[in-house]
Order: sequence, then structure tokens, then C-alpha cells
Amino acid sequence: MTGIYLHVPFCARKCPYCDFYSVTYRKTLAEEYVQAVIRNLNHYQIPDSVDSIYFGGGTPSLLSIRNISDILETCDKNFKLVSPEITLEYNPSRADFQYLSDLHTAGINRLSIGTQSFSDSQLKLLGRTHTAEQNLQTVRNAYQAGFENISCDVMLALPYQTEEVLSGTLEVLTSLPVQHVSAYLLQMEENTPFYTNPEILDNLPDDDVSADRYLQTVHTLEQAGFYQYEVSSFARPGFESRHNLKYWFCEDYLGIGAGAHSCIKNRRFCVPKEIDLFCKNPVQEEITISETACNPEEKLMLALRTGRGVPESALSPNARKKIPLLIKNHYLVQKSGTLRLTPEGFAVSNAVIAELLE
Ligand code: SF4
Repeated sequence: MTGIYLHVPFCARKCPYCDFYSVTYRKTLAEEYVQAVIRNLNHYQIPDSVDSIYFGGGTPSLLSIRNISDILETCDKNFKLVSPEITLEYNPSRADFQYLSDLHTAGINRLSIGTQSFSDSQLKLLGRTHTAEQNLQTVRNAYQAGFENISCDVMLALPYQTEEVLSGTLEVLTSLPVQHVSAYLLQMEENTPFYTNPEILDNLPDDDVSADRYLQTVHTLEQAGFYQYEVSSFARPGFESRHNLKYWFCEDYLGIGAGAHSCIKNRRFCVPKEIDLFCKNPVQEEITISETACNPEEKLMLALRTGRGVPESALSPNARKKIPLLIKNHYLVQKSGTLRLTPEGFAVSNAVIAELLE
């Protein structure tokens, strides 16, 4: 099964911590961009069935319903869709019930809502354009509009994010009709205003505090019935994101749009991050990143970051010698020959995986 990723590189305003590729939304440019997306969807042939379509960004919820319907109709016309999970990343500045309801009617069946926090002061610090109340309204309106598969984002390791502040966010989140949570640690990216902001730099939590906030999130979500199926993702049973799992299990996905990434039959490629070029070219330009993606080592590394883990027998004899100590230090568990990271192991997954694949 293949997934389709549609990149929508428009935002109402740039958040000061974000280095994703996006430009300020303009209706005429967005219309032109959507036509280029459709042109590309008509160009590619996908022999396998498609079980996942993902509108990511940027801010896909800036697109009109007509734009989204046209894209979905093109997918339906060109590809073998098999009960696809169709996700759209949603910015809660638009808590509008009618738009949510129209999205659901258009065929979107999963929303990934960029709530980030349910604390107004944290949202303000992040430069988000919505309030905690708009987060609540968006989730409630989405549920009322018929969405039964709702994911919310939470950002961790933020300045001033004490245990109490995070606990307030998690308490609200777990009381809502939400089936999936993506919890990300704030990354300080070069070339963003955060990177040189003295207030942010002076108040960033250290690694130990960041790990505490992460573990607090894991434990609170587990108690609320979510299970951790990869390093940053938590789902109620049956609500894991198909789109996410394609990345982790090296399944094929085709990315369309300026800056989109793809992996098809072990070839990883991307499209230049230039909207004008994407709109102008009859077919998007592909830049090959690797012809040997999803090799055994990469598969092992990715699978280790998931709750499924890896068979111990897949590791080298040298790596296997390190397992007892990693288990003793509570970073790994072993059950029926399968090794998995514990929550403590997920908190330092890069280091543990580097140790095992050294
Ligand atoms: S965080 Fe999301 S809304 Fe903010 S600039 Fe980045 S892509 Fe846009």
C-alpha cells in the first residue's frame, strides 16, 4: 500500500520557532499552487493501492473546500483508493464549525490539530495565532462535525513549562474526544527568531528537565488509555496514524508539492522548496536523495523507534553484547526475543540507537 503526501506550504503568519518551508498565504497563489498539485497527481502512476492521503504543511486548513475537493477527486480518479485514511493538518485559529463540517463532507476523515498547548501564556510565547479556548472549540466542533479520528499536537520542553503547566495541558487534552497525540520536544532551529531570542535561550529547560516533561507526558497519556507506538506518537488502540507508520516501516509514499519528500521502491527524493518553480514546471522536479533507502540498517534504526521494536536476532553480535546493560539501565525491554525501547529509552533514543548500531 502506498501513501500520498500533499504539501501545502502556506501559513497565515510564521511561528518564531518553525523552520518548515512555508510562505505567507495569498489566495491567488494558493489557487495556482493547487492546480500544479492536480497536474502532478495526474502525472504520477501508482500501481499499488493507496490507503493514506495526508495534507501537511504549512497550514492546509487555509485552503478552500473547493480546492480540497478538487484534489481528492483527482486522487480518486487516478489511484486505487482502498478505504484511505485522509488526514488534514488543521490550525485551530479557524475553529469554524461550518468549515470543519464541509471538510468532513469533502472526505477528510482524520484531523491533526496543531493545538501545541492548552495554556494561553505558552501559546503566546510560541507566537501561535490561537488561544487555548480556540483549541477547545476546534476539537469540540470537529467532533460535532463528525470527526471520530482527531489528533492533537503538544509541544514539550518549552520555556516556563513547569510540571504544573504541562499537567494542565494534558488534563484538558485527555478530557477531549481525541484519539491520537503527537508530542514533540521544541527544537531550536538555526535561522529562526527563537534561535537568537535571549528570553527563550535563558529559559530553555536542560536535558534532564526536558526528559522529565517527556516522561510525564508518556505516563499521563498511558494512564488515559493511549499507548506509545513511536517516539513522539500516542494513540488509542486502532488509531495509529497510517501515514506516520509508512515512514517508520519504510513503506512507499509519494510527496507532491514544493519541498515534499517521497520514498518509492527504495528511492528517496524531494522537490525543491520553491513555490514559483513548482507552479511553473509542468511536472515537479525530483532531486534524488538516495537510491538505497530502506536498507537493512535504516529499517532497523527506524523500527527501533517504534513500539513494535526489533527481533534481537537482527542485531549484530557486537550490539547484542550491549543489551544486558541497556536493559539493566531501563532503556530496553526484551520479550519473546523482541527488543523495545522503554519510555526512558525513547527519551534518549538517539543515544541508545547509536550505541546499538555502532
Ligand atoms: S508551526 Fe505550523 S503554522 Fe507555524 S509557521 Fe510552522 S508550519 Fe506554519
